[in-house]
Amino acid sequence: YKGDKLYMGKKVLFVASECTPFVKTGGLADVIGSLPQALQQTENIDVSVMLPLYQEIWDNWQNQLTKINSLPLNVGWRKHDATIYHTTHQGIPFYFIKNDYYFSRHGVYGYEDDGERYLFFCQAVMEALKVIDFEADILHAHDWQAGLAIAFANITPPTKQLKTVFTIHNIKYQGILLKDAYADLFNISDEHIGGLEWDGLLNCMKSGIFHADKITTVSPTYAEEITFPFYGEGLDSIIRERKNDVIGILNGIDLNDYNPNTDPHLNTKYSYSRIKKKENKEILQKKLGLKVDPEIPMYVMITRLVEQKGLHLVQAILDEFLNENVQFVLLGTGDYEFENFFYHAEKRNKEKLVSYLGFDEALARQIYASGDFFVMPSLFEPCGLSQLIALQYKTVPIVRETGGLKDTVTPFNEYSLEGNGFSFKNYNAHELLEQLKYSLSIYQNEEKWQALLKNVNKSYYSWDDSAHAYADLYHELHQA
Ligand code: ADP
Repeated sequence: YKGDKLYMGKKVLFVASECTPFVKTGGLADVIGSLPQALQQTENIDVSVMLPLYQEIWDNWQNQLTKINSLPLNVGWRKHDATIYHTTHQGIPFYFIKNDYYFSRHGVYGYEDDGERYLFFCQAVMEALKVIDFEADILHAHDWQAGLAIAFANITPPTKQLKTVFTIHNIKYQGILLKDAYADLFNISDEHIGGLEWDGLLNCMKSGIFHADKITTVSPTYAEEITFPFYGEGLDSIIRERKNDVIGILNGIDLNDYNPNTDPHLNTKYSYSRIKKKENKEILQKKLGLKVDPEIPMYVMITRLVEQKGLHLVQAILDEFLNENVQFVLLGTGDYEFENFFYHAEKRNKEKLVSYLGFDEALARQIYASGDFFVMPSLFEPCGLSQLIALQYKTVPIVRETGGLKDTVTPFNEYSLEGNGFSFKNYNAHELLEQLKYSLSIYQNEEKWQALLKNVNKSYYSWDDSAHAYADLYHELHQA
């Protein structure tokens, strides 16, 4: 029903904790920064986005923000103001909740009171809904940081028509507070405590799942996986209880933004030309101090350095793989264990390995453009955007068959010549090593390599289909 008159003019408010270009720590920011445009442009749905106003956003964007209102809030016995700011970016209205005590800090997450910070944010969202010039039909909240907004909206609906959608981008991060939080942070009657609590603790992720009208997660395979204990992170039973309302909708990426033919961060732009892509590799090799030779196959990783990303497998086999005539470039930040590993691995393999420990958007894009292979052996992966970006930059993904990786990468078959990458099933370092070596043998066989690249060139993961699926879901909710 593309552009259906019935649905036109419906309003959806996104609530989330990060969004490009304002603030980003991972894939969630890419999704919140691109799905609203897709919904607006292809489905005629009006989307606004509400975010916390972190120090970083204030520093970079304050000149473009207009103050709307300041609302006094009670956080338990504390009194805190939530000041609402507004701007429009690329046609999408943004609302920001400013409170210096909670959000004027360095970075985004990782504070002891993160639970309280986002509890405050969700309370502020509820109050803001009453005063902004945007009467939402759907409240679409993303991940645990926005989970309590769903719960509050269900317990005390701010408007009659409001329906709710909760999207799980990663069920591992749940936002858990001590039970004392009820008394200390907000008033809630006993009858509602059950919906917010899990294992005797206040659980923001569970609250969202319990209270939402519909639940989505970011790939069909992950939707299935989280019904099992291995992937459910302790919440699999509640997912099973709500299974009829859970659907998996694959994330897309903004193909205008992630476009090697226009990307301003690249020195040499390209679309299908392997020669141009190799020019990027040469420039990167020079910049990072690697041997400059565009024929040496380059394996890259761009990732948060956390267990989820399969780094224990990489740890176990990296030195052995580096015996081959290859180069390996890692860009990442995260847990000390892995930063330390890559730091020392580089010292042992100076000729072949670069470990760049940091977060750097421009460098990330140069690496996507330069690599021949993108390594992503995740333990679990709700959707994964990095492999989609890699495909867009004509870099062949090597992945473990889990979640969105399984839904987007098909293993290359050298006989039928089908498939757009390499994959392995078990979480086992030698299965990864085997695929790394196998990929190298395909790289060295010109005919097969060209066949593989042809398939990579045809792999597009735009938002079109997914925006349509979300529109269907909103539509269904308002018909019910
Ligand atoms: P997740 O959301 O679990 O981190 P995704 O693959 O969905 O994983 O998205 C990761 C996003 O963050 C991608 O856009 C990737 O390029 C980017 N990214 C990850 N680490 C870095 C880094 N160190 N520097 C720049 N960008 C990064």
